[in-house]
Amino acid sequence: MLCERWLFQAILSKNTQDSREILMFKALWKVVVFILLGVCGTQALSSERDNSHPKTIRPKIAIIIDDLGTNWKNANKVLSLPWQVSASILPFTQYANKIALISKEQNRAILLHAPMEAEKNNQLLGPGALFLSMNPWHLLKQLRQDILDIPGVEGVNNHMGSKMTQELGTMRWVMGLLKWQGLYFIDSRTSDQSVAQQVAQSMGIENTRRNVFLDDDIDSVAINKQFDRLEQLATKNGSAVAIGHPHDETLRVLKNRLLGLEQSGYELVSIRDLVKI
Ligand SMILES: [Zn+2]
Repeated sequence: MLCERWLFQAILSKNTQDSREILMFKALWKVVVFILLGVCGTQALSSERDNSHPKTIRPKIAIIIDDLGTNWKNANKVLSLPWQVSASILPFTQYANKIALISKEQNRAILLHAPMEAEKNNQLLGPGALFLSMNPWHLLKQLRQDILDIPGVEGVNNHMGSKMTQELGTMRWVMGLLKWQGLYFIDSRTSDQSVAQQVAQSMGIENTRRNVFLDDDIDSVAINKQFDRLEQLATKNGSAVAIGHPHDETLRVLKNRLLGLEQSGYELVSIRDLVKI
């Protein structure tokens, strides 16, 4: 602006003297002025161009590997994946502490994989499980112990829980504690009828939900297809969340697919970047 004002003042200023030297000087001066105007104009144009073309936003993909804690070999493979892949750890398992401490060093998001009562197979819930038969005091005491067992925990997603996540009252108790603890919540969506995310939302807890399970079918062709679906959803909605498990096949497919993800135009982000109220 200063440059332009100075140039215009120079152009508009009048000089009544018209000796030959002065006329020559004026002609030369006009050339200089036109060159400078050109420079200023180009600068203005390029700054307009910068504003009119904001940096392209790439679809975001977040991946959580849950059921971690009982198998060190595969947990170690998860810890060698990019730091944006989040680790969801079952409480009171042999390697929970070790996985959490390494994840913390890597800036990897650490989730409590909270075991919640399912419609069936509740024998698979493992230690620290939450049941609908528990009174609120007992339920919250257990959940608090589960949270404390995972150092550096910043969020929670449900392990199983197809029955419990349908229960509005129980979810209110659960989310109340998460809010108190400053944790975010990811609904694993093990039931279509889950109300967990909507309760989290209504109570002002940062949240999101799983869009794709990568490995319901533990087969590399099937897992690749699910990863394709994840990319399609991210393209359509701007972002998408996948949950996978520490199976050899899943980790092999992930290692390959994540290598080419940026080149395919996607951005791998931590789950903490996709939670919102
Ligand atoms: Zn699980």
